[in-house]
Amino acid sequence: MIYADNAATTKLCVEAYDSMKPYLHDQYGNASQPYSFSRPAKEALRSARETIAACIGATPDEIYFTSGGTESDNWVIKSSLFMPTKRDEVITSQIEHHAILNSCRTIRELGIKVRYLPVDNSGTVCPVSLENAISEHTGLVSIMFANNEIGTIEPIKKLAKVAHANGLVFHTDAVQAVGHIPIDVHALGVDLLSSSAHKFNGPKGIGFLYIKNGVNIHSYADGGSQEQKHRAGTENIASIVGMSSALKLNTQRMFEEEKKLRTLENILIRSLHESGLDFIRNGSENHLPGHVSLSFREADGEMLLHRLDLMGICISTGSACDSVNTQVSHVIKAVKVPDEYAEGTIRITFGADNTESDAVEIANAIKKVLL
Ligand code: PLP
Repeated sequence: MIYADNAATTKLCVEAYDSMKPYLHDQYGNASQPYSFSRPAKEALRSARETIAACIGATPDEIYFTSGGTESDNWVIKSSLFMPTKRDEVITSQIEHHAILNSCRTIRELGIKVRYLPVDNSGTVCPVSLENAISEHTGLVSIMFANNEIGTIEPIKKLAKVAHANGLVFHTDAVQAVGHIPIDVHALGVDLLSSSAHKFNGPKGIGFLYIKNGVNIHSYADGGSQEQKHRAGTENIASIVGMSSALKLNTQRMFEEEKKLRTLENILIRSLHESGLDFIRNGSENHLPGHVSLSFREADGEMLLHRLDLMGICISTGSACDSVNTQVSHVIKAVKVPDEYAEGTIRITFGADNTESDAVEIANAIKKVLL
């Protein structure tokens, strides 16, 4: 099998797997208890928080563990329900993940206004369009770091600067970016950042929300005093430890990994171009390493996915969360892929385990189906 759907999820790395084992069985103490048996759990929690903070340029008390990207995004968007009444507007983009878009739908039902910024053909949000959209009612801006369908990396530093110049809180959904491109939250100037471990070779069902010190955000879950009384619930120590090992490793290997992934992209694209197939590559020059979104003229992306599956190749039509929905995705519509190409869209996302021969084989399989 060739797995090339790493934007949907990644394989747990061996280092993370090994680091989790003691906390799944022997070290089962509750980190909140004062007796000595709980000390290893407490120490693991402290150390994981420190490691994760160091990987994104934060301080440990700015890291709040959650169950993943969806929860972190819900937390931020729904916290806008507690904004002062004069600030009852949220600005986001048209190409956000459904964790943001559907959270926005909920807050709209509860009276918050939401503005959706358009993107250009490369999927980039223009800082000037943010500036123009801000009003005296705006309280929160949420723009994703990198898009999960087309891989475009947004100008986050510039967007955060615009938000701050207008006294607003700036959130970024960095689920696709953390562990893949360098991120320094303080240098970027973001206030809130969502992340999810299973996108960077960590375990599923665990993630974190970075909350900059001094930024006021309503607590997500009420109960015990975990996560500085902002997200109650007994901590999932094994997964938190696995997440920190995976992020540390990915951060250490980031530059050599990027070089490899860019090479795989180039091999794939060159081979498809040489074949004479008529296709568009979606996204921007500034995109996530290994992320390739292609739209083939007069093709059926859904059919292509299933034919490749029969050849043992896993790719995607758009985002995994959208795979039941066979219509053209909101992202492909927003970047205005021409109609004759839009339905022939597939996403190939290379990851740590992929090799150059995988890129060659995927290109050959696509040619076999479409030529
Ligand atoms: N945000 C983005 C950009 C994503 O790509 C995803 C997952 O595909 C999510 C949020 C949801 O993350 P999780 O699967 O951890 O809930």
